[in-house]
Amino acid sequence: MAKKSSSEKLYKQAQKVLAGGVSRNTVYHEPFPDYANVASGCYITDIEGTARIDFANNMAALIHGHSFPPVIDAVIEQLKKGTAYTLASEIEVAYAKHLIKRVESFERIRFVNSGTEAVMAMIKASRAFTGRSKIAKAEGTYHGTYDFAEVSQTANPTNWGDINHPASVLLAHGTPKSVSRDVIIFPYNDVERTLSILDRHADEIACVIIDPVPHRVGLMRGTNEFIEAVYAWTRKNDALLVFDEVITFRVNYGGTQEDYKVKPDLTSLGKIIGGGFPVGAVAGRADVMKVFDPHEKNLLLPHSGTFSANPITMTAGYKAMQYFDKKAVTKLNALTQKAISQIREAIQLAGVPVSVTGAGSMFRMHFKATPPTTYREAYLSKEAGALVKELLDYMYYEEKILMINTFSCMLSTVMTQKEIDRLTEGLFRAFKAFK
Ligand code: PLP
Repeated sequence: MAKKSSSEKLYKQAQKVLAGGVSRNTVYHEPFPDYANVASGCYITDIEGTARIDFANNMAALIHGHSFPPVIDAVIEQLKKGTAYTLASEIEVAYAKHLIKRVESFERIRFVNSGTEAVMAMIKASRAFTGRSKIAKAEGTYHGTYDFAEVSQTANPTNWGDINHPASVLLAHGTPKSVSRDVIIFPYNDVERTLSILDRHADEIACVIIDPVPHRVGLMRGTNEFIEAVYAWTRKNDALLVFDEVITFRVNYGGTQEDYKVKPDLTSLGKIIGGGFPVGAVAGRADVMKVFDPHEKNLLLPHSGTFSANPITMTAGYKAMQYFDKKAVTKLNALTQKAISQIREAIQLAGVPVSVTGAGSMFRMHFKATPPTTYREAYLSKEAGALVKELLDYMYYEEKILMINTFSCMLSTVMTQKEIDRLTEGLFRAFKAFK
């Protein structure tokens, strides 16, 4: 691995001023993180001057890659008119109208500043609406860093099997034990066990949170059978079915929920809907979203945020989503399918036991001959984790390709066959080298 003096020097300074030397752990990279200088289209160049194809797209947040001209132009215009107001803005109304038209289950929306905040607002809204405190989430899933959403994020073979006692799988040290008492953990895509766990708390659950293609857990789709069974359970037990589509909104024009017969009551959004700026949103049924309504005599959920619906973010997000129309979604998903079939060929030619999961413009590779369908199947052993890290380093340093550290790629609309070929050929060489 080449020593990179500028990044190394910068990291030494960073360690003296930023906790752990970084502002988000995802950018940390052994022995020090790289620093970006400039990014344009599907390429990102670090301060050493090395350009790489960006298949990470800021952790899946950039649907048109970097510095997408229509977004940049619109943002420049908005910058001249002010960056943050104490008043509401026309652009947030226009953007809300666009999103509501786009997705069948969206009747009202609230904008916030991150996916974490969106999930938090969604959980609070579910509790306010139902008057219940417990939530249910799938083992190992990542839904951001709100205490209740974090429970079970660190589930692993040393603590699973104890699925009804999530106290053993809390993430952050010092999180009150009471938090885990209000979170029920179920095994994703396992209908029978999930329903039996939910049944034990039938009249206490405010919402069941589903990420329809959970990234951290394996990027496999929730099966129709599973989603429909959970939906039916929520109807029978007066609970809400809520989807976390912070990442998966990119899968179809109207999010992954388009693919299911049943629709969620609420949805959390983030990432691509900010057009490259920090964002989050919660959207869903009008009667549930009424909990936010300040007109109500008995306001159930006080909610605000200094930068919520920030006009720069609204401008960028609206423009990005206008350009992510049905045609663009279809084209991007077709390119991704092409990439996946080329990668499958490379896997076969290299003779390695690797499989691919994913949906829409996202995919993840696994060191398993058969694609995993549950978290426990997808779980990376220490040895497999170390191998993935070596492969990612190889792709990064030798092939000049940036991927997400779960061995995943999130494509952008500015990518072409050229980038797909470079990815496929690079992976083929990587598989051969590490066979
Ligand atoms: N929910 C899901 C499914 C996510 O993948 C993420 C972030 O990766 C979040 C929530 C949190 O979003 P943010 O990082 O914007 O807080």
